[in-house]
Amino acid sequence: MVLAQLGGSISRAIQQMSNATIIDEKVLNDCLNEITRALLQSDVQFKLVRDMQTNIKKIVNLDDLAAGHNKRKIIQQAIFNELCKMLDPGKPSFTPKKGKTSVVMFVGLQGSGKTTTCTKYAYYHQKKGWKPALVCADTFRAGAFDQLKQNATKAKIPFYGSYMESDPVKIAVEGVERFKKENCDLIIVDTSGRHKQEAALFEEMRQVSEATKPDLVIFVMDSSIGQAAFDQAQAFKQSVAVGAVIVTKMDGHAKGGGALSAVAATKSPVIFIGTGEHMDEFEVFDVKPFVSRLLGMGDWSGFMDKIHEVVPMDQQPELLQKLSEGNFTLRIMYEQFQNILKMGPIGQVFSMLPGFSAELMPKGREKESQAKIKRYMTMMDSMTNEELDSTNPKLMNESRIMRIARGSGHQVREVMEMLEEYKRLAKIWSKMKGLKIPKKGEMSALSRNMNA
Ligand code: GDP
Repeated sequence: MVLAQLGGSISRAIQQMSNATIIDEKVLNDCLNEITRALLQSDVQFKLVRDMQTNIKKIVNLDDLAAGHNKRKIIQQAIFNELCKMLDPGKPSFTPKKGKTSVVMFVGLQGSGKTTTCTKYAYYHQKKGWKPALVCADTFRAGAFDQLKQNATKAKIPFYGSYMESDPVKIAVEGVERFKKENCDLIIVDTSGRHKQEAALFEEMRQVSEATKPDLVIFVMDSSIGQAAFDQAQAFKQSVAVGAVIVTKMDGHAKGGGALSAVAATKSPVIFIGTGEHMDEFEVFDVKPFVSRLLGMGDWSGFMDKIHEVVPMDQQPELLQKLSEGNFTLRIMYEQFQNILKMGPIGQVFSMLPGFSAELMPKGREKESQAKIKRYMTMMDSMTNEELDSTNPKLMNESRIMRIARGSGHQVREVMEMLEEYKRLAKIWSKMKGLKIPKKGEMSALSRNMNA
C-alpha cells in the first residue's frame, strides 16, 4: 500500500466514525481496527501499531467524556497525535550550522539511494549558501567514485576520492582533512553499502566513523524496504551512532510504513525524503505537515515554503495579502492556475494546500489535471471583469453560465463543474482569512494554527 493509500484508508476510517450518529465503544473500535489494518498493510511494525491503538484507547475514554465533549474531534486529534508520535522520536537530530564545519556521514545498504542522497543533501545546502563538499569513502563498489564525481561535478560541489586507494578509512580521513582546510562547512562522507547486513560492512563503517568523528550519521533507507526496515535500521544503529534518517524513493509505489519503523528502531527523526532521481527531488521532512498531508488535511507550512520558493518575489506580497483577506475570486483562481502551469510539475505548490490535492490534482494524474485546469481557464477567458472579481456567489446565474459556455465552446455542465470547483477552493481559501502572514522560517506556527 503506498502512503497515499494509507492516508486515504485512515481518513476514511475517521470519516466513517464521524458519520456515525452516536460514538460508542463499537464505533471507536471499528475505526481503530480499520486504521490498524491499514498501518499493518503498509508495513508498519506490529508492536508500533498495537501501542498506538492502546494509547488512543487510553486517551479516549468514552465513559469519562461528558456529553458536551466533541468526541469526534477528540478521537481525531488523538489519532493525529499518535501518528505524529510514531514519526517523532521526541528529540531533534544534530543540525549542522552554516559557517561552522560539520562532518556528516551517510550509511545504508547498497541501492538504498545513499550516493544520490549525499549529493542531494549537499546541493540542498549549497543552494542555501553553504559550502558543502563530498568525500567518497566507498571503495567497495566499482563505479561508486565515478558516480559521486559525476553528481558532484554536475552540482559544482567539490569532491574527494581515489581510484587507487582501497582503504576507505584513509580516504575518508584525507578528504575530511582537506575540506576542513578549505573551510567547507558541510563535509559529507559517503560510505560503502552492501547487499545485506554484513559484519565487514559494519566494521568498516565503525572504523570510518571513529576516524572521522562525524557530527551526524544519517541512515539512508529505501522506502520500499517494508517490514525489514525495523531490523535493518536497528542493526545500523547498533554499529554507529545514527542520528537521523532519510527515506528515499517516496515517489515510487513503495509501502511507506517502513519509515515509521525506522524512526522507532533508531530513535532518530526522518529529516528529509527523496522524491525522485533528480538532484532537487528532495524535501525537508516535518512530522506534523506530513501527517496532515497523509490524512488529507493539507500541508500548510509546506505550502507557504513553496510560495516563498517558487512564486516570483515581487508577486509574493500580493498573493499573501490576498490569502490573508480570505476572499477568493475567480480571478485569483485564474492567476493561481497560471502559476501552477508555469511552475512545471503541477501539484508541487497547490498539492500542499488542504483540499486541493485529492480532488483537483490526484497524484499520478498530473497530465489530466493540467488539461482540466486549462479547460477551466478557457471558460474563465469568456468571463467579464465583474464576474472575475466578484465575491458574490449569486452573481453567476443561469444566463451568465450559458453565455460563458457558448463563448468558450464548452458545455453548460462543464462551466457548472468549474464553478463548483471554484466554490470548493473558495471555502478552503477562506480559512486563511485574518491570518498573520508569516515570514520565511515562521511557518510552523501557521501550520499549527491551521491544523488545530
Ligand atoms: P546507493 O547504492 O545506496 O549509493 O544508491 P544510489 O544512490 O546509486 O541509488 C540507487 C538508485 O536509486 C539509482 O538509480 C538512483 O537514481 C535511485 N534513487 C535514489 N534516490 C531516489 C529517489 O528518491 N527516488 C527515485 N525514484 N529513485 C531514487
